[in-house]
Amino acid sequence: MKDKMHNNKFFILITIIIFLFICTCSTPTLAVAASYDKYIISAKLNVEKLEIQANETIYYTNRHDLGFNELYLHVYPNAPSFKSLGSSIEIRKICVDGKETKFIITGEDRTILEIFLPTALLPSSSIKIEISFKVQIPIKDDRFGYYAGIFALAHWYPIMAVYDERGWNLDPYWDSGESFYFECAYFNVTFSVPEGYVMAATGRLNEIEKKAGEWIYKWYTPLPVREFAAAVSKNYGVVSGEASVGTRKVKVYSYYLLGHEVAGEIALNTAIKSIEHYSKYYSEYAYPEFRVVEVYGWFGGMEYPMFVMITSSLYSPERKTMLELVVAHETAHNWWYGMVGNHEGLEPTMDEPFAEYSDTLYFKWVYGEKKFEEIFDSTVRRPYYRFLKIRGKDYPIAWSVFDFGADSQAYFTIVYNKGAMVLRMLNWLMDDAKYFELMNRLQEKYRFKICKLRDFKVEAEQVYGASLDWFFNSWVYGSGVPHYTVEAYTRQTGLTYTLHLKVKNTGDPVIALVPVRINTRLTSITVTLWVNGTQGEKDISLPFEPLTVQVDPNDIVPGEDDNKPVPVKLNIMKALNVDFALLITIILLSLVDFAGIKKIENRGHEGRK
Ligand SMILES: [Zn+2]
Repeated sequence: MKDKMHNNKFFILITIIIFLFICTCSTPTLAVAASYDKYIISAKLNVEKLEIQANETIYYTNRHDLGFNELYLHVYPNAPSFKSLGSSIEIRKICVDGKETKFIITGEDRTILEIFLPTALLPSSSIKIEISFKVQIPIKDDRFGYYAGIFALAHWYPIMAVYDERGWNLDPYWDSGESFYFECAYFNVTFSVPEGYVMAATGRLNEIEKKAGEWIYKWYTPLPVREFAAAVSKNYGVVSGEASVGTRKVKVYSYYLLGHEVAGEIALNTAIKSIEHYSKYYSEYAYPEFRVVEVYGWFGGMEYPMFVMITSSLYSPERKTMLELVVAHETAHNWWYGMVGNHEGLEPTMDEPFAEYSDTLYFKWVYGEKKFEEIFDSTVRRPYYRFLKIRGKDYPIAWSVFDFGADSQAYFTIVYNKGAMVLRMLNWLMDDAKYFELMNRLQEKYRFKICKLRDFKVEAEQVYGASLDWFFNSWVYGSGVPHYTVEAYTRQTGLTYTLHLKVKNTGDPVIALVPVRINTRLTSITVTLWVNGTQGEKDISLPFEPLTVQVDPNDIVPGEDDNKPVPVKLNIMKALNVDFALLITIILLSLVDFAGIKKIENRGHEGRK
């Protein structure tokens, strides 16, 4: 009752402030071209009404070579999947450089805010956009929604659409998977919640101003981030620790529902280890803080800059491995989607396979090779093969979320699972040194920028030192599943064995460099051969007798093969053809020997006499 009284007083105050804002637009400011845009948001959460009232100021710069008469922003609370559960966004007023400006809500799912500029925004010019708005939060276990005491607050405020070579990106909100595509910007968010409510968010927590009846959280981003997300609950407990990143310490916080202390610790430790390993292998985590937060989600987890949401159903000690996997996955997105950005809708293959492969590598780095193989097999390889068996069809990992449409099972299996298998194959092809050099190069070159699939190919080829057309055409832009079998023949010349390997592909005619393991009595070696469509052959000289061979024994090339050891056959016909002269010599020599032996026998006989 006391809380509510304070809330009511504060609500009146905020209403007055908003009223004043609506009545007077602020004075224009001198615009200065900046490298990154800036968002300043002042908001208040009304927990009874499930409502946010906010004022947002965006300092936006036109970094393109044409002028704009209109600007576009995403207003995702209008998305049908939220709207059907009570969500809405009411844009009360917009001012551009101090002048009230016309706007409309548009877009195929009404998630686009179009602002008509009073004067054209010329290249390299900046403007100040002020938006007053109110958001109704849906009751939904989602990345945006209130559910059982937790407010998950992503995508609640208007955010600039991206202009690129395709024009303005006005894609609809995508429920299953992501259609998000944002430029990095600075955020400064002041967020008022009722007293006692705990807030986790993107950014560094500068201060909590504690007043009677309300706590005001003040967040800022010391470096650019792609967006701002938060979670609020009065039922959160918090544990924290530090990740060592180069010579810095990153403060890591884990927010969990009271009663989930053990899982909260697991989430914290996983986030710390993930940050440390990704910093070592990819590039240093740029920011000073990171938060992993329990929410109610139909998904496993959801990535945001400096902040990840993990679904509550994983917060039990029995689900430790899955919890670690999801935390490692979402944390990896801070490198792939966060610091290095992509259009998640158009090119999900530029973030999901990277995050998926990273979460299995986490198990290699933390628990060793055996655990990695076990996790890779159960969470990546088997789901993909099961899908192929059921569907009998493969798809390119380069497809957009829109290409997959409503077929979310195909989207998740192909982009995440097959995508991770393709990255593992690239890792194998390049070896660890070059693969992580490539990851580091992408991080350094595209940090706080957008990295497209074609950029990734260019960088991969430079690090690899050769064209990867075959790899990208068959495995990224193309689809198809090979099925390999191997035959092997050998012949001996002196101390050397010549092994003739023949790998046949009875599956789809993709191009691959295929590993073949050769087992001898003492050891085994792995060689590679090109299978260009249906067949590949190779001769190999060996100092040992090859006994058996196995094609793709570690399943590096996606596609289930018959990879049991195949006995190596002796090739008499080949010996006859190639070494006919040698054979005649051997026969003649053996005749001479035969005569010699006879002579000795005779001599022996004589002697015994
Ligand atoms: Zn992901």
